[in-house]
Parts: sequence; structure tokens; C-alpha cells
Amino acid sequence: MDNEILKGGGNHPENDAQYAGLTVNAGIEQPPSINPYLKRRKRRQLSVNDYVEGILKGDTAVLGQAVTLIESVAPEHQSMAQEVIERCLPHAGRSRRIGITGVPGAGKSTSIDVFGIHVLGRGGKLAVLAIDPSSERSKGSILGDKTRMEKLAVHPRAFIRPSPSAGSLGGVARKTRETIVLCEAAGYDTVFVETVGVGQSETAVHSMVDYFLLIQLAGTGDELQGIKRGIMEMADGIVINKADGDNVDRANLAAAQFRNALHLFPMPPSGVVPEVIPYSGYYELNIDKVWDMIDRYFAAVDENGYFEQRRRWQERYWMRATIDEQLRAHFYNNPDVAALLEQKEREVMHARQSSFNAAADVLNFYFNVTGRP
Ligand code: GDP
Repeated sequence: MDNEILKGGGNHPENDAQYAGLTVNAGIEQPPSINPYLKRRKRRQLSVNDYVEGILKGDTAVLGQAVTLIESVAPEHQSMAQEVIERCLPHAGRSRRIGITGVPGAGKSTSIDVFGIHVLGRGGKLAVLAIDPSSERSKGSILGDKTRMEKLAVHPRAFIRPSPSAGSLGGVARKTRETIVLCEAAGYDTVFVETVGVGQSETAVHSMVDYFLLIQLAGTGDELQGIKRGIMEMADGIVINKADGDNVDRANLAAAQFRNALHLFPMPPSGVVPEVIPYSGYYELNIDKVWDMIDRYFAAVDENGYFEQRRRWQERYWMRATIDEQLRAHFYNNPDVAALLEQKEREVMHARQSSFNAAADVLNFYFNVTGRP
């Protein structure tokens, strides 16, 4: 191929005389999709007071901005966010927090849309949040996307927020948890936290919700095989989706298998044996049965004190998780530590130093620059 042709401005190799056939015409500049003469209105900088007042009034625009503040990595935003959270805390805590998990395709978004409308039919306000670890990699969060929940997206009493995308799973989970506090202060009395049932994110969600719902599908008869025991143990209720059309029998069979499997587990600390209910999110079948099950659970744990106890345990968990996160950040964000770490990694990779000695060197360096504990 002739390089000269390639270099020749808008020319294409196909335009060379040796190609007798088609030629490529020069493209035209596309007009910008946004009017360039339109001045962007600068958002007024809100004070902590503005945020708190707006949130307590239930102003969704301010709530949305406050969540953005929580998600920001800028230290000044972080400290402001913490103040806002602190002041919202006395107004928080009065919601039912429900975690919803299931593998991709299980029907989470379809179901959340329908469950959400069902809950809103009883009054109150619903917030839908998400924890999506894959969004760390793709930098775009999938869960909680408004377009996947068509009915809720346009409902005046629903607030949908996609998963925070930056940082570690611990960081993402903390932000979602802090968002719950703001939503509750804004009067949302039901909070859904959605997650993909594929890894550690369920543990994070489990640690912030009062009820953990596992969405399953009827498979080929060995559905229990692929499910991690840990996730089943976390579930407070299991629902088998897509129990419609000619799938009803299989869904019922799967439900029976799950019930049998659950009987082999020890009694959960809630004192409530998880129920298993087949339903159809798409055809809106048995939605009231699913919700009756959840109501029964809340009635039982209100009565036996587990609701409060679980929240206290979660507080303790989050205190520890926050300490963990900040210690790690303090360590890994120190540029001198990072440089030494990199150097030591090379030493270890080349077998010039043992991993234990290298770790000790890095830690000693860290303790020396930050003060020994
Ligand atoms: P997600 O990935 O878990 O959020 O799953 P979606 O809600 O996007 O659903 C995945 C696919 O399953 C979509 O094509 C839905 O239309 C379909 N689906 C969801 N719920 C049902 C149901 O109850 N019955 C049937 N037959 N299909 C469903």
C-alpha cells in the first residue's frame, strides 16, 4: 500500500488509481449536538446547611447532589459529606432496608420495577440503590440504571441511584450505606439495595439491609449445584422468578428443592426459616405473596428483637470496616510507601528478598514516617 496516500489528508487508500471500483468521499463535519452558544448555568455551591435542609424537606435534587458529594473523592467534599451524614443520622434509620440479589438475567430489574410499584401502592417513598462491583472495572455502573426500571423511573415517589463506580468494593459499599442514611432522612421508608449475585458484593449488601432476598431461576433440575452455600445462608427469603407459561411446573419443583435444602441448614439467627416462593416479575404473578412473606418476616423480627440486634451488629461491622478502609488508604496513598512497595515487589519477584522481610521493611518504613502505633 502506498504510504503517501495514507498520509494525504482526507484521502483513503481505496482512492488510489490501482483500485478501479468504489471511491471514498470526504466526510462532513457533524454539527455539535449541544448548542455551543448556550451558557452552562453554574450550579450554586451548597453549604452543609443547604444540603441538610433540602434533604429533610425531601428535595430530590438536593438529595441527588448530596449523594454525588458522598461519591466524590475530593477530600473537601468528603469532609463536607461526613458533616451532612452526621446531621442526617438522627433522622435516619426508619426504613425497611431490603437487599435484592440474583445472577444477571435472573430478572432483578424487572422484579424491582414491579416490587417497587407494589410497595408504593401502599403509600410511602422508595429508594433504589445498587452495589455493582463490575462497575469498578467498566467505569460505568449497570445496576440501578433508571432505564431498566421503566415504571419506577417516572414515579414521583421513587428515587433511583446507580451504583457508585469508583474505588474498592469496601469503598463502594460504604458510599451506598451512607446514601441509605440520606435517603431515610429524606423520608424514604423503603430502600432496595440491588447487587449481582456473583461474588463478594452480597456480603457487603447483607451487612446493610434488614432483609436479604435471593432471586433464583428454575434450571435443569440441579439448580442447587451452582449456588454458593454462603449466599443461601445469607438469604432471608428465596423467590423463584419466571414462574409463568410452561415454566410453572419447573419453578414449583425448584421451590420444593430449595425448601428441602433450607431445612438442612441450622436455624438462622433471625429465628425465621426462609420461605421460598415462585413468582413471575414479568407477568406480575404472586407479587403479593412475595410481599406477604416479607411482611411476615418483619413482623417476626420486630417481635423477637432481631431487627434491632441486626442493626446494632451492622453498626459494629461498619465501624470496623471504616477503620479498615481508612488504614489501608492511609498506607497505600502515601507516595513514599508506594514507591518502596514497588521496589520491594521487584526484589521479591527476583527472589532477592523473602516476602516476610520485604513486608517488614515496608511496614517499618511506614510506621517510622507515620509514628509507631
Ligand atoms: P437482571 O439482569 O437480573 O436485572 O434481569 P432482567 O430484569 O433484565 O431480566 C432478564 C430477562 O428475563 C429479560 O429479558 C426479562 O424480560 C426476562 N424476565 C424477567 N422477569 C421475567 C419473568 O417473570 N418471566 C419471564 N418469562 N421472563 C422474565
